[in-house]
Amino acid sequence: MPKLTICGGGNAAHVLIGLAGQAGWEVDVFAPLADEAERLRTGGGITVLQQDKISVGQAHCISPDPAEVVSGSELVLLALPAFAHDTTLRAIAPFLEPSAIVGALPARSGFDFAAHSILAERDLTLFGLQTLPWACRIVTYGQAVEILGTKEVINLAARPPTLAPRLAKELAALFNVSLQPVSSFLVLTLANPGQIIHPGIMYGLGQGREAIRFTQDTIPLFYQGVDPFTAGLLQAMSTEVQTLARALAAHLPNFDPVEVTPLYTWLIRSYATAIADKSSLQRAFVTNRAYAGLKLPTRAIGPNTFAVDYTTRYLAEDVPYGLVVTRGLAELVGVSTPTIDEVIYWAQAHLKRSYLLNGRLAGTDLAETRAPQNYGIRTLERLAAVMGGQEALPA
Ligand code: NAD
Repeated sequence: MPKLTICGGGNAAHVLIGLAGQAGWEVDVFAPLADEAERLRTGGGITVLQQDKISVGQAHCISPDPAEVVSGSELVLLALPAFAHDTTLRAIAPFLEPSAIVGALPARSGFDFAAHSILAERDLTLFGLQTLPWACRIVTYGQAVEILGTKEVINLAARPPTLAPRLAKELAALFNVSLQPVSSFLVLTLANPGQIIHPGIMYGLGQGREAIRFTQDTIPLFYQGVDPFTAGLLQAMSTEVQTLARALAAHLPNFDPVEVTPLYTWLIRSYATAIADKSSLQRAFVTNRAYAGLKLPTRAIGPNTFAVDYTTRYLAEDVPYGLVVTRGLAELVGVSTPTIDEVIYWAQAHLKRSYLLNGRLAGTDLAETRAPQNYGIRTLERLAAVMGGQEALPA
């Protein structure tokens, strides 16, 4: 039986344990956070509930110690938020088999920079998915998870890039989704939809609303709450990414900007059957039934009283591991991104961080991001060499 290791113990990890177990893999789990390993063990096995089917899988070994679960695995899956990628990669690195394939679901932006800098000497195969294939939520920890919706097609990038078609075919069977191979991780970095959607909607719905108080019943919907102003902002951010992709392509022979799907195209392609009205970007968000019921992140500040939560992962993950990476690429090629800059300035103030300073990525907290500059990539020539696998990155 082939063996894989899942890193993480959240929603995505639950789905993967169930699907991989059902598909006949020997599944181990690396879950170092809090008491997750213990809770997963006592749960017994995971039932994945989907509209039309049920999958059941059980992990063979679950541990907070990577030495117990990583050795011998052909496939190692990071089912984690991007801010946990570095610590996880460093923890598992000593135990990875030379032939192991290491992948992130989702990769977010700059995953290849981080993974390559940490695992460079190992020369391993890497892959990443553009998004998590499922909208999923744990029903009972360690026992059951529900898949609320599945995206219809998801981009996969690999390093070396030539392996992407083969990996897309093999992993599609494991994840039970359709995977589209793309030519490089740069495509995933730029076409990372979370970097636009999450900070963009937070800005559209949350800016200037610091003093607003909601009750449980009045918290606005998040995706389905996209108003014309927010849709315009999302469209402007997407257009800036398209301009950037075309400018980069002029300098990077192996990069095809057409693979960087614009936001509207991505939305329609991912949720072809879930969207009732595709007439505009705003209508596509508002009428997407896969987004039904998901609300603006809030925090309780009193009995049935809530304020917007500006520390949410929608900013804490998608700005340093998304927009700031894209902004770093824009700085390399000299393309201006005024709307993206506006959102970063606003988000970093709420996150109490400094990434952008006086129009440059020169803030004091840049080191915690995956901007290319953090990995010594300060010219397009160096970016091209790193993408081609000819240059190592500092760890
Ligand atoms: P989750 O919050 O359920 O799980 C997070 C898990 O990551 C934790 O349970 C823990 O096991 C691990 N983790 C967090 N911080 C860690 C750290 N510092 N060190 C080690 N482990 C750590 O998240 P999820 O819903 O499974 O999402 C995983 C990724 O998929 C995230 O990037 C998320 O944004 C993305 N995503 C999720 C959904 C969804 O529907 N769940 C949809 C789209 C994208």
